Amino acid sequence: MRYIPVNEPLLGAEELKNIRDCVKSGWISSKGSYIRKFEEDFADFCGVKYAVSTTNGTTAIHLALASLGLKKGDEVIMPTFTMIATAYAVLYTGARPVFVDSEEKTWNMDTSLVEGLVTPRTKAIMPVHIYGHPVDMDPILALAGKKRLFVVEDAAEAHGAKYKGRKCGSMGDMGCFSFYANKIITTGEGGMVVTDSKKLAEKARLLKDLAHSPKKRFLHVDLAYNYRMTNMQAAIGAAQLDKVGALLKKKRRIARLYNERLKDVEGLRLPAEEKWAWNVYWMYSVVVEDGFGMTRDTLMEDLRAEGVDTRAFFVPMHSQPVIKSSGILRKKASYPVADRISKRGLYLPTGLALEEKDIDFVCAKLKKVQKKHRKAKKRR
Ligand SMILES: *Cc1c(COP(=O)(O)O)cnc(C)c1O
Repeated sequence: MRYIPVNEPLLGAEELKNIRDCVKSGWISSKGSYIRKFEEDFADFCGVKYAVSTTNGTTAIHLALASLGLKKGDEVIMPTFTMIATAYAVLYTGARPVFVDSEEKTWNMDTSLVEGLVTPRTKAIMPVHIYGHPVDMDPILALAGKKRLFVVEDAAEAHGAKYKGRKCGSMGDMGCFSFYANKIITTGEGGMVVTDSKKLAEKARLLKDLAHSPKKRFLHVDLAYNYRMTNMQAAIGAAQLDKVGALLKKKRRIARLYNERLKDVEGLRLPAEEKWAWNVYWMYSVVVEDGFGMTRDTLMEDLRAEGVDTRAFFVPMHSQPVIKSSGILRKKASYPVADRISKRGLYLPTGLALEEKDIDFVCAKLKKVQKKHRKAKKRR
């Protein structure tokens, strides 16, 4: 039976050539020319001065927050609707994440709610560009300027996405990326911190490599980490970056093909693209409304039986057992939009290897399943 996975990386001859080069030359650890190339090319791609590679997206966020000096007693305002790594990274520093509800259209954090959450302990705001759609950054940047807060962007799902022409990751004090296998650019596992600040870039470099004293190796003044990316990962990343334009075009094409086929399906909310946004559609995400006639979970089950793999939306941070039991949640806080979309949202196959006939297949199955379910309902 035909089976369409929700995601598959697209790797080719260039990645293989670079990896061969690493193995042949013996430069397989974290020194080697691909690291430098990948960092420089990635900084150029984002339109920033500095890029510091790390072991994954989670450590990239932690490294950014550690470089800014976040510590116990500080607060970081971030969306509740995101991947757990965003919250973990805050918790690693000892700071407390303060959650914001989502807005209906883009599913990103509702920027109108942020100011009300600022306290004397707030040190940073961390917007997350969910599923490849940029957050409305101007209100956040203005508020951060007024209240003297740091802005750290979690752009793990938004390589190349643009807000009013500016690249996601380049607008805050620091931006963080992931290169996990399902992300827009992959290195297998990997991450990157980008910034325009020389001081922050230097601090991040120091902290990601055990903070060797610049004066004397094996003398250490800071508590630091080993978050070094390998040359082999950077070799894959450099090859990926050479074709990122084509990869982004492909993501947007997948979204356009889905939009054309699904726009008339009753009760299915399609992903938005605000006037000021250039969405990279990391995952083609939809929300199942009442009018659709079946629940999100039933739809996912039925699609799976038809050979279509999907994923449910993230479970919001305020509903995570690990967060609930930590006692950090604000009393009486509620997050109705995040609750709603997390129960109703799913994403369809969006891998870069997907072809038009695969999208036809997915959409045909989705319509078939809906129709079957409606008929059965009538009969009942
Ligand atoms: C993938 C992801 C991360 C974490 O990246 P890893 O490389 O898996 O550690 C962080 N934040 C968001 C929003 C992500 O989607």
